[in-house]
Amino acid sequence: MPERISVFGTGYLGATHAAGMAELGHEVIGVDIDPAKIDLLRRGEVPFFEPGLSDVLRRHVESGRLRFTTDPQEAADFADVHFIGVGTPQKKGENAADMRYVDAVIETLGPLLTRPAVILGKSTVPVGTAARLADRLRDIAPVGDDAQLGWNPEFLREGFAVQDTLFPDRLVIGVDPQRPGRIEEAARRVYAAMLERDTPFIVTDLATSELVKVSANAFLATKISFINAIAEVCEASGGDVIALADAIGHDERIGRKFLGAGLGFGGGCLPKDIRAFMARAGELGVDQALTFLREVDNVNMRRREHAVELATRVVGGSLSGIHVAVLGAAFKPQSDDVRDSPALDVAGSLHLRGADVRVYDPEAMRNAAAIWPTLTFADSIDDACRGADLVIVATEWGEFKTMDPVVLAAAVGSTRIIDGRNCLPSQEWIDAGWDYYGMGRHSG
Ligand code: NAD
Repeated sequence: MPERISVFGTGYLGATHAAGMAELGHEVIGVDIDPAKIDLLRRGEVPFFEPGLSDVLRRHVESGRLRFTTDPQEAADFADVHFIGVGTPQKKGENAADMRYVDAVIETLGPLLTRPAVILGKSTVPVGTAARLADRLRDIAPVGDDAQLGWNPEFLREGFAVQDTLFPDRLVIGVDPQRPGRIEEAARRVYAAMLERDTPFIVTDLATSELVKVSANAFLATKISFINAIAEVCEASGGDVIALADAIGHDERIGRKFLGAGLGFGGGCLPKDIRAFMARAGELGVDQALTFLREVDNVNMRRREHAVELATRVVGGSLSGIHVAVLGAAFKPQSDDVRDSPALDVAGSLHLRGADVRVYDPEAMRNAAAIWPTLTFADSIDDACRGADLVIVATEWGEFKTMDPVVLAAAVGSTRIIDGRNCLPSQEWIDAGWDYYGMGRHSG
């Protein structure tokens, strides 16, 4: 049976979730405070790059199953299940998450709930948020106890967001065990198609559901920083982190995934989520439990500095006036997201040290230019690399991985390349006469 659903916040998470719910057969209304975003979505256009999303979105906007509004009243009148997918960015000057957007949804939607409704939070929030919001909702909703709130953390990956939304590897639903109400039932109806496929469906208390999400991200960040810390030791000792990762990755307790040494993690989730997790642990009086995440963050940020130092070294000690082609601006391939992007951070640092930086990214140029308008943006790999003294691969887009080293050698001024993602076939580049520098490798 189709459910009537609203999704508050139509960014990377919310727009994908709204389109995904329509794809599952539900009737969906997406709500955002950004009228420009809503205008685009109403026309069936995705305001950001996410492979496959525009097809799903357009199909359901055209069928009328998916619509968008800036008016929360419309959502309250229409939907029985409301998802919250607004941002929880890092507070300025603090590690903690800024909860103002999530709080605003409850403050706006709560007083409009005049009939029974279920709210499922999807945003990544500090543990304790859901219980606080559930209390607040009961106070301000005209239906009182019949406005029920649970938490349903989201695990989608940008670049695979449609697939991850339609075929999640697990569903987690947090409910208050003292007041279980209709939340689990509503989630089972919304996700019926996935439950038929035996997708793991894990019902927990509210705190556990919030912690599942931040723990998963803390684990992934730790795994990346672990191999990057080992890369530092490889660089100092002449070891090779790729061979090492392959060797330890064969141990199934360790696994090879997420053991790619490079410029480290970035984006709108991992960095701010581990910081918010530390901040919340501090408030709970268990800061020591997560002190290791500070080191995870430090190792990660050092990779960017390392790349800039390496660049300085390989061009002879000064970046002033040196033409550096930076290939990549997005924090990862298949995304145009430049939030806390290592690639853009490296490009910006090189620029501040006097280099003539030319950045090319297949999808993220507009977002990158909004953050770093003083960088020069090129139209193509060739355009960025023409006459370059140094090339840096900073995001592992497919078109960078398959560049022809012989062809590129003819375009650049000097055949020097830093493979910031260890994503190039290094021997081919060396054979073509390039000075190749990887991360955590003999040459790096
Ligand atoms: P985003 O910045 O792309 O989108 C947030 C949207 O919320 C914006 O469009 C903004 O205008 C809107 N908004 C703000 N206040 C609003 C309000 N009161 N009512 C309606 N809309 C409002 O952020 P995102 O990347 O989609 O992340 C959203 C949440 O999901 C965060 O908590 C994030 O940590 C979590 N998350 C994101 C991802 C991801 O890959 N992006 C994955 C899992 C979880």
